[in-house]
Amino acid sequence: MPTTRHDLAAAFAATGRNHPYLAFTLNSLCNLDCVFCKPRCMPDYGHKDRPLTITDYAAIAAEAGTWKIRKAHCSGGEPTLRADILDVIAGLADGLGSGAAIGMTSHGNLRRGLSVEKLRDAGLTYLNLSLHSLDPERSATIMGGGDPRTTLSTLDDALSLGLQVKINCVLQRTYLDDAFAVAELARELPVAVRLIELQNIGPAQALFDTEFISEADVRDRLHEWFAGAGEVSRDQLGVRSPGQYFRPDGWAGSIGFISNSSCATCSDANRIKITPTGVARPCILHNRDIPLKSHLADDTLDDAFAHLFQAMLDRNTNDAWQGFHYVDYDLRWDRMERPEGAPVLPLLPVLTTGTTQSSCTRASAGEQ
Ligand code: SF4
Repeated sequence: MPTTRHDLAAAFAATGRNHPYLAFTLNSLCNLDCVFCKPRCMPDYGHKDRPLTITDYAAIAAEAGTWKIRKAHCSGGEPTLRADILDVIAGLADGLGSGAAIGMTSHGNLRRGLSVEKLRDAGLTYLNLSLHSLDPERSATIMGGGDPRTTLSTLDDALSLGLQVKINCVLQRTYLDDAFAVAELARELPVAVRLIELQNIGPAQALFDTEFISEADVRDRLHEWFAGAGEVSRDQLGVRSPGQYFRPDGWAGSIGFISNSSCATCSDANRIKITPTGVARPCILHNRDIPLKSHLADDTLDDAFAHLFQAMLDRNTNDAWQGFHYVDYDLRWDRMERPEGAPVLPLLPVLTTGTTQSSCTRASAGEQ
């Protein structure tokens, strides 16, 4: 079993998976209310009292940099609603060092006083915009507000400032033509449109049976676009998560699929998910928690990263991991206590990384 930082990183590389990256959930709040997300229905589980600080984000990123991690992604909720978003971005950019990819998922309806230029100046290098229809009324029905024209203006700003842009568009049967119109933006614009299968989790469970449509079905309908389309490498697009991207002949941009419902890509997973209060998980939906706050307090972040790398390595060999997903849709935002009796994996073994002995103990999001 690998025991050092170098060995663990090398063992991960040997799996052929893309190197891990940091995927921060900065908040659970949003001023919109998408039908498959519904943040307004959810109680805010007190994370405002215990969020990671700017210094914490910078320290986590600095430690990650020593593990050769070169990307940090911020999502929410709506991350731009954080008053300190520019400082968070700057802390991550400083921590990971020059040349790192610092990105964000946003609905693009930026609050007054915030601009893409300010985000870029803070260190943002790419922007993923959520856009599910170009029609203002239909978009508002899906997203509970917002204006796709504002999102498109944010998109233009991002491209003109040299940011890489991806568009996240969730596929729903009722809004399939809307999704195709969004995808067609890539005909003229150098953007990667990601068509995302609906996942049967959280509020989307109520829609799943009627609205789910698979990647295969969508590809069939778009066969004219994909006939002869060349595959675009994820490296070229700055994409490190699973998925395949194609550029139809003559198009400026590309279309990809994120198909976690019909084609689980768990064995490729490389996201270190970190909740607003600093609970790290080696998978977005997994229940193996590593509370980074205690590691920050003890100056043992290296042990936490050793655990995370080992946990990601384990997933292909550990029976307890195989196919087991405790669907903690709300836990990832610290919005709820882990339900009593919910199954959990055994503790990770303590690793010796040449530094301090680990003080890592697993705790539920509500206990730290
Ligand atoms: S914009 Fe994002 S965070 Fe806000 S409701 Fe929609 S999916 Fe949820």
